[in-house]
Amino acid sequence: MPERTIEAEVAVVGGGIAGLSAATRLAASGADVVVLEARDRVGGRTWNTEIGGEANELGGQWVAPYQSAMHELLEELGIELFPSFREGSHTYIDPEGRSHRYEGHDAPLGDAAEKAFEAADAKLDSMAKELDPEAPWRHPDARDLDEITFESWLRAEVSDETARDLMRAWLAGGFLAKPAHTFSLLQGLWMIAGAGGTFELFEPEQCLAFRVVGGSQMISLRMAERLGDSVVLNAPVRDVRWSEGTVEVEAERVTATARSAILAVPPNMTNAIRFDPVLPAWRMRMAQAMSQGSINKVLAVYETPFWRDEGLSGQGFAPYELVRELYDNSPPSASAGVLTTFLAGENAERAGRLSADHRRREVLDGIAKYVGPRAGQPVDYIETDWSGQEWTRGAYGTSFGPGGLTRFGEDLRRPVGPIHWACTDIAGVGHIHMEGAIRSGRQAAAACVEAVAA
Ligand SMILES: Cc1cc2nc3c(=O)[nH]c(=O)nc-3n(C[C@H](O)[C@H](O)[C@H](O)COP(=O)(O)OP(=O)(O)OC[C@H]3O[C@@H](n4cnc5c(N)ncnc54)[C@H](O)[C@@H]3O)c2cc1C
Repeated sequence: MPERTIEAEVAVVGGGIAGLSAATRLAASGADVVVLEARDRVGGRTWNTEIGGEANELGGQWVAPYQSAMHELLEELGIELFPSFREGSHTYIDPEGRSHRYEGHDAPLGDAAEKAFEAADAKLDSMAKELDPEAPWRHPDARDLDEITFESWLRAEVSDETARDLMRAWLAGGFLAKPAHTFSLLQGLWMIAGAGGTFELFEPEQCLAFRVVGGSQMISLRMAERLGDSVVLNAPVRDVRWSEGTVEVEAERVTATARSAILAVPPNMTNAIRFDPVLPAWRMRMAQAMSQGSINKVLAVYETPFWRDEGLSGQGFAPYELVRELYDNSPPSASAGVLTTFLAGENAERAGRLSADHRRREVLDGIAKYVGPRAGQPVDYIETDWSGQEWTRGAYGTSFGPGGLTRFGEDLRRPVGPIHWACTDIAGVGHIHMEGAIRSGRQAAAACVEAVAA
């Protein structure tokens, strides 16, 4: 039974970047707000750990130059960025498993593959540019684009096998975190449109340009600090009772009554809450049609970033390997060496069926192909499989199967009575990134204020 009742004008469920951005905006407009967070910490899909006496991240971390809401928020919160380390040669591992060092931007794919990749990239860009990132389902050809899977498009449009495999690894593995035959071309284009509108902005120099001093969870920690007692941790919301103009949100040990609520949880997580009256049929259909991707983020920790001494950046990719991508994630002072990789989509599923020891061996052997045998002897090895995180259940975010975006896109942000929705998964610009979480939270706050004033 709840032990405490809180009265507020707006109850926000979820203390990730979206929920805290919404609450920050509401509090600034003078509204009385409470945030109920299930975990014993704020930050949701951003989560700091400490390595070499400095912050490092188990979840989201990189900031891109195009992310204007993020840059504005960081300034507001007094948080600084530092450039991600990528000096030296990168590594590309070819279909035969051979490692190649290269400098600059273009991996040595071979002429045919490079040309085919560029041509496919240009085709995707021109389609993505036609989409409104806030409502891709309204494009005149949306239905056609949504019925074809990304895999079928690749097979039809990209004749070079290496280019096709690379593009699949990039968009399906690197962003949707699902196999390319399980989501539509439109869903893939939304990802590109939301991240600045060109495939090029997915390149590490853009998308992974900066890291946050103090770790990305600092963004939520600072917002929560400013909101003070309004943020209640260890408050998993199980029940939401609502009628026009009032809502009662019940968590363990605490109930909040408010005039409206913002559910700032990933769409798949609304299925874990009981609504009374039940949510309308359209909303139930939509939530059931969305599912999370699969990501296991690995941090391999070494006493020093030894690869730097050998002229390696620690960055590389290998579309055919379990360790498909690798980045230097050492703290800014290099007080330790940290390499990070993401087991994504089918790789996460396959690796998840191995014993922990077996998986660790495969991952470390995989990292050694990029930076040499010293990779096999880390001082620490940290995995975070986000599908096993009770309050997220996957990563990087949720997406529909083919046809879902055009069937349910209009419903993604539609309020239900006094209940509004926020989180990166339903954002347009910054979709699935921290940027989208900020924008989505702010939009929901504005919608809430407008609804109360009406
Ligand atoms: C491994 C990984 C790497 C990533 N890399 C990047 C990156 O480099 N750059 C980038 O921009 N983005 C990245 N992302 C994505 C980024 O982290 C997310 O887009 C962003 O953090 C989402 O914020 P959110 O507030 O929308 O959702 P969340 O962070 O999921 O917040 C939702 C909150 O709701 C809470 N909650 C859920 N159910 C309930 C309930 N019933 N009651 C109360 N509370 C509840 C959760 O505990 C959580 O705190 C990454 C994510 C992961 C996991």
